[in-house]
Amino acid sequence: MTARVIDGKAVAAELRARVAERVATLSFRPGLAVVLVGDDPASAVYVRSKDRAATEAGISTRTIRLPETTTESELLRVIGGLNADGNVDGILVQLPLPPAIRAQAVIEAIDPAKDVDGFHPLNTGHLADGMPTLVPCTPAGVMALLVAAGVPIQGARALVIGRSTIVGRPVAALLLAADATVTIAHSRTRDLAAECRRADIVIAAIGRAAFVSGDWIAPGAAVIDVGINRLDDGRLVGDVDYDACAERAGVITPVPGGVGPMTIACLMDNTLRAALARRGG
Ligand code: NAD
Repeated sequence: MTARVIDGKAVAAELRARVAERVATLSFRPGLAVVLVGDDPASAVYVRSKDRAATEAGISTRTIRLPETTTESELLRVIGGLNADGNVDGILVQLPLPPAIRAQAVIEAIDPAKDVDGFHPLNTGHLADGMPTLVPCTPAGVMALLVAAGVPIQGARALVIGRSTIVGRPVAALLLAADATVTIAHSRTRDLAAECRRADIVIAAIGRAAFVSGDWIAPGAAVIDVGINRLDDGRLVGDVDYDACAERAGVITPVPGGVGPMTIACLMDNTLRAALARRGG
């Protein structure tokens, strides 16, 4: 079998267009504030892409750039100002933060109603309880790709490899909410290959290039590759051995062009959702 490739760019473009259409019907412009501390080059690139996507969707966007030397209390004051600003519907603090600032304290300071990254404990708690809430963007993107590809989720055996708070745990919670039978594997899992071979859906969020072998994949399984790894020769690859897995899978996402583009599209969707919840449609 050769897998059908899920085109994340196309699915992301559709979602962004749907957000833009809905925004165009509103009597106000949803607002997104992005806070960038320090000058991490990868973060700067990511923030520029967010700006572009927001502008295209009709969302007003503001980037607050703070120096690397910013203290935690200074950052908390900035967040307090954004929490109180009626024109700001979504607040995103770009991670990683400089080591002197506790990321968790910052995340907990964001108004949960404006937490478009979905990392505030109130939102992660709602997600864990299966309640509707602002959902982290990459996991929301994973689910949207499964749905777009027509992958049956209810009753399916889903294996999530990785248990990070940003990807693995929330993806597992979303799959459970969608009635999959979910297993979470991690660095201490005893026989990952065997877990994989049982799965109808494999979500790889590990951070190790080409780690998932083709012979771990059950024939016809859906493989969603969240990993982004840069090789020494500069190429970007995912966490699954793409060619070998594509031989056996039913559907598969490429890297780049799979999950990656969904993250920003889902951020736009979350900003719209937060705006509608705060101000009505
Ligand atoms: P992380 O380092 O926080 O977590 C990695 C997880 O992999 C851990 O839970 C660990 O237990 C598990 N793991 C490590 N070695 C393992 C092994 N040998 N067997 C099984 N599990 C193992 O990483 P993260 O933030 O969850 O990111 C994972 C990957 O996804 C990275 O490549 C990252 O760049 C990528 N990512 C992509 C997007 C996107 O927009 N597409 C967003 C976030 C993260």
